[in-house]
Amino acid sequence: MSLTNEPARQPRVTSVLKARSLAKAFGSNVVLRDIDIDIQRGQVVALIGPSGSGKTTVLRSLNGLEIPDAGTVTFGSGDSSAELAIDFGAKVGKKEVAALRDRSAMVFQHYNLFPHMTVLKNIIEGPVQVQKRPRSEAIAEAERLLERVGLADKRDAYPFELSGGQQQRVGIVRALALKPQLLLFDEPTSALDPELVGDVLGVIKELAEEGWTMVIVTHELAFAQHVADEVIFMDGGVVVERGPAAEVLRAPRQERTKLFVKRLQ
Ligand code: ADP
Repeated sequence: MSLTNEPARQPRVTSVLKARSLAKAFGSNVVLRDIDIDIQRGQVVALIGPSGSGKTTVLRSLNGLEIPDAGTVTFGSGDSSAELAIDFGAKVGKKEVAALRDRSAMVFQHYNLFPHMTVLKNIIEGPVQVQKRPRSEAIAEAERLLERVGLADKRDAYPFELSGGQQQRVGIVRALALKPQLLLFDEPTSALDPELVGDVLGVIKELAEEGWTMVIVTHELAFAQHVADEVIFMDGGVVVERGPAAEVLRAPRQERTKLFVKRLQ
């Protein structure tokens, strides 16, 4: 242990995202209350909790797919050029939503691939149409990523020709191709047949090992314990407990967490 406190010797912690006091209601149904989330570069955060507790709404709020009623989201390291600060209490228009989308990419439970486009087209659509990157560069990158997840031979296939596990691996490649600061996974394996879950979790684990920053909503608690640095347990629209994965999953302090963790193990 170092006895000195020199900043240079401390691990460099760079904030990717800070969310503060996120609140959201759908009509009279209050689904998020006062949610704070901090994510550092290279960190994997697992968001767990019962169905309906607001996990997906948190994820969608970070990506601009839902607009919270109140709260703030800040992307960036504090370096003013990299900073994006959005106050949901103020007017949030297309420009702000586009800026949020630019920083994170979502992997959906039901893959959400475009059914009328080939695998390759699905992957290059965002980089070419939205990010205006050269098509040849986007194709080369897509091919490289497909190779990595073992799907190089599916480049020209349509989604309906693929298994769920293959579709989800394409979903992951599509997110990676956007080169986001933050990857968001919304129950990425819960629509898959059990024998296909392992392949997809394997890809996510490799991404974690490579240092990707990610938030994963999951019911796979064993996986969360294995891959996540921090676990956030939500219930009823609030964060009930958060901390290192082993603590929250193995030695939870709150009664609600204990009940939830016990039920799933
Ligand atoms: P979780 O991901 O934990 O299952 P969700 O964030 O999906 O929870 O949902 C939280 C609550 O918000 C639920 O009661 C759900 O019915 C409601 N909800 C989510 N999205 C919408 C929507 N677009 N319109 C109305 N209610 C919604």
